[in-house]
Amino acid sequence: MDRRAYRGSDPYGPRRTEEPDPRRQFDQFEASSLFCPRCKKAVPVRKRLLLVLPEGERYEYLCSLCSSSIGRKMEEARKKIQLIVTG
Ligand SMILES: [Zn+2]
Repeated sequence: MDRRAYRGSDPYGPRRTEEPDPRRQFDQFEASSLFCPRCKKAVPVRKRLLLVLPEGERYEYLCSLCSSSIGRKMEEARKKIQLIVTG
């Protein structure tokens, strides 16, 4: 499969691959299971609220088998509305 063929209709537009954003990647899947380096396999996870920040809530994913922290996710509280028209 030639991925370059999809460039024209890439929903994310032209992205700089030299600046990967792990948080963005994370947001693209529902983290119902993650790879646990301790269990050495994909495991079901528990989601725990870590921090509530002005820009959103930070969650931590814990391995449901050994309770290791195996992932984090930042959930934006709200999409900032950029289209406010003043005046
Ligand atoms: Zn584990």
